[in-house]
Amino acid sequence: MNYKSLLLFILTLCNGQILISQDDVKSQPRRIYLDEFRPTPVLKTDEHLLQSAKFPCVNVHTHPGKLSVEELAEMVEAMDAANIAVSVSLDGMAGPRFADHYKLLNQKHPHRFIVFVRMDYIGSGNPEEPTTWDVHQPGFGFRMADRLTEAVRQGASGLKLLKDLGLYLKDLNGELIRPDDPRFDPVWERAAELDVPVLWHCADPISFFHPSDERNERWEELYRHPEWSFHGDEFPPHQELIDARNRVISKHAKTKFICAHMADIPEDLKKLGSYIDKYPNMNVEIAARVAELGRQPYTARKFFMKYSDRILFGTDGVPPMSELIPHFRFLETFDENFPYEDNPFPPQGLWNIYGIGLPDDVLKKVYFENAERLIPGVREAILRWNQASVQPIE
Ligand SMILES: [Zn+2]
Repeated sequence: MNYKSLLLFILTLCNGQILISQDDVKSQPRRIYLDEFRPTPVLKTDEHLLQSAKFPCVNVHTHPGKLSVEELAEMVEAMDAANIAVSVSLDGMAGPRFADHYKLLNQKHPHRFIVFVRMDYIGSGNPEEPTTWDVHQPGFGFRMADRLTEAVRQGASGLKLLKDLGLYLKDLNGELIRPDDPRFDPVWERAAELDVPVLWHCADPISFFHPSDERNERWEELYRHPEWSFHGDEFPPHQELIDARNRVISKHAKTKFICAHMADIPEDLKKLGSYIDKYPNMNVEIAARVAELGRQPYTARKFFMKYSDRILFGTDGVPPMSELIPHFRFLETFDENFPYEDNPFPPQGLWNIYGIGLPDDVLKKVYFENAERLIPGVREAILRWNQASVQPIE
């Protein structure tokens, strides 16, 4: 009997208890950090790793602006494989740079890209010198409207707004410029006259406006990107931005708006539905919001069925196949509990998503019919895609 066993024996006698031997003691699992937590589901359900859309697809939210010629060719290859007939580039810059971007996309890949031009707050001002920016000079709205007209003349199919309004762009007195600032009215009006849509990213996920603490459901994301937090007195509350954008949509009823990222309120589809009911000129696209939609499959499916005329397909960025698959699975299948992104960490919250198995008529609207109706140039591009896809009969 060694020393340890002897001690155990004595302890047993002393306490009148049976002690389990050291070998049987299970060690406590190691305490792990949240960013190490990778629960791997053991659940077995049907999987449909769809590599292409069931119908020709228009991706209304992409950013090929910084791609080289070779990378652009790779993007088109991925589009071919995924049945994405057309991608909308939101990277057209107003002024002389517009033509370069348009040419780069269209020369080698005719009818595969539609280009939107971005709102340009600087104009001929000095980017380093905010006092010289066009947005701070009287009459900005009319000059920007003319820049939009010029871009449309050169092939632009719409206007794009980043989330500057309400979050970044400041007046010279240091106040944030609100989304419903009347100086932009001539721009919204001109878009209606030109019959081009406005694709607007306004606000951001609601969690980004909450404290980045232990209750924040997108904590890992905010931990990696503290600059994405809009919590604090220097920013307006999320709802204030949504309301301001909605006032613009209401005031400019003839202008067609495509609100990026599910109008940045996919966390409350009932509320979003009430907005869509109220504003016939409001449309939404799903870019970077499959994570939000896919965690509420029953509600999302009802939403897609009810508002099928108002929802467009989009991804953001330059999506590789691994990113497209969850989009197609979400829209077309009833797959369960699958990752919404192919990243090593859950980029937008620690959850998986579920498919909503949309019927063909709804899929067609989301994939291309709504885009055909709203975005100039898409109808022709789809027509050409279909013609090119028809195999000659031997
Ligand atoms: Zn984007």
